[in-house]
Amino acid sequence: RWNANHNRSIGQLPLRRSQSTFNHFVASTKLQPVSPPPQLRPDAKPFRLAVKDNITTEGFPTQCASGILGQHASPFEATIVRQLRARGASIVGKTNMDEFGMGSHSTHSVHGPVRNPLAATDEDVSAGGSSGGSAVAVAVGDADVALGTDTGGSVRLPAAYTGIVGYKPSYGMLSRFGVVPYANSLDTVGLLARDVEPIRSLVFDTGLYEEHDPNDPTSLRLATRQRCSKACSPNLPDLSQLTIGIPVEYNIAELDPSIREAWVATASVLESQGARIVPVSLPSTKEALCAYYILAPAEASSNLAKYDGVRYGIRGSEGDAVGETLYSETRGAGFGAEVKRRILLGTYSLSSEAMDNYFIQAQRIRRLIQRDFDRVFKLDNPLYEPRQFDLSEMSSDTALEDKQGPVQVDFLLSPTAPTYPPKLSEIQKRSSVDVYMNDVLTVPASLAGLPAVSVPVKVDRSHQFPVGIQLIAQYWDDRRLLALADKVM
Ligand code: GLN
Repeated sequence: RWNANHNRSIGQLPLRRSQSTFNHFVASTKLQPVSPPPQLRPDAKPFRLAVKDNITTEGFPTQCASGILGQHASPFEATIVRQLRARGASIVGKTNMDEFGMGSHSTHSVHGPVRNPLAATDEDVSAGGSSGGSAVAVAVGDADVALGTDTGGSVRLPAAYTGIVGYKPSYGMLSRFGVVPYANSLDTVGLLARDVEPIRSLVFDTGLYEEHDPNDPTSLRLATRQRCSKACSPNLPDLSQLTIGIPVEYNIAELDPSIREAWVATASVLESQGARIVPVSLPSTKEALCAYYILAPAEASSNLAKYDGVRYGIRGSEGDAVGETLYSETRGAGFGAEVKRRILLGTYSLSSEAMDNYFIQAQRIRRLIQRDFDRVFKLDNPLYEPRQFDLSEMSSDTALEDKQGPVQVDFLLSPTAPTYPPKLSEIQKRSSVDVYMNDVLTVPASLAGLPAVSVPVKVDRSHQFPVGIQLIAQYWDDRRLLALADKVM
């Protein structure tokens, strides 16, 4: 059986060249920590952790792969890093990424592009992005676990391209305090590892998922966590009791035929083990990418306003410039081209004449996408209070909000990316919109705040790259999601 034969230890995957050529760690000097390390928990087990460079750390600068942050050293450490250090993590380095998390191939970096270690020696191939450095650190065995951030797929996509596991938790589960914001309403901290187990054990066995962080306003409150946990079963039942949905809208024309084959083969294996496989429709999927690329740049343009050379950011060449000159010199010299493009896009879509046509419409689409997911999952979304049944309030529109159709599913199964990792030279030739297309299968779960995981499967043994298969679950059903991911691998 292909999945039983699948080589679980990616450390044994044939790496085509010396590890130093992948450019996955950022060149950063070690700094003197300012505060005492967190106290080790009694259940702490030592492991090596790589940290994406948009997550603040003691002892290393945090630069977000941006010129504008120079050798910026944060005066505090991200909650998630402290939580993991208390659980035994030692930080092996900060990892290369797309500047501020904006990109899909880890090429928009002041440190130069990350390279995929699974590629042939004479080929420069995308490691995926924006958490490409974190994925490579795990894939080549430099770290046991890596932290990334996933706003629209940035943990799942590099995991898929490098043949490892990438997990994006439910929005609001893991603290974002100390994570440099890209698009706050979508940003999540994700974990990467060679197998599901280290991720599952950190998040659930050590109770990470239960911890509220008062420093992060989007961190779910304790009472809500408890209510959500009550609504979701902790155990994955026998596969014969599970229904897995194949979202038909994800079967796009651009899908590489052998990735489609891997998708079908994965579904067949689950079916042969007793799971019920059904097609489901998520009609608003087609609009998801457009909505994402309005909302994410809009939030980014507002977030990045603080890099003005006064509060944050390097100074332009004229050290004594003031006002507009200081602002434009700092930003003109400090930001890379893709970040500037997003700022312009976001500033435009939030401007008074464009707001209604872009930002507001995109918010509406986001609602429709959330509703699509809620309709197909068996579980109700535990974030919403159960609705009172009131006939007088029901219209054809509210009827649509209710669960419809004959079948409902426990999980959704799809590929993570439409193609195998492209060559860096090919990416250079693409327009930015073409590059955005790559995120088409990962942004819907981000817009809905749902947990999702990418796991590597290898159907065609002759192919150089494994295929990333994505599983998506209802909100807070993360524990069962990871248990199923483990079976799929
Ligand atoms: N590729 C997407 C973007 O550029 C997603 C990035 C991310 O998840 N950080 O916005």
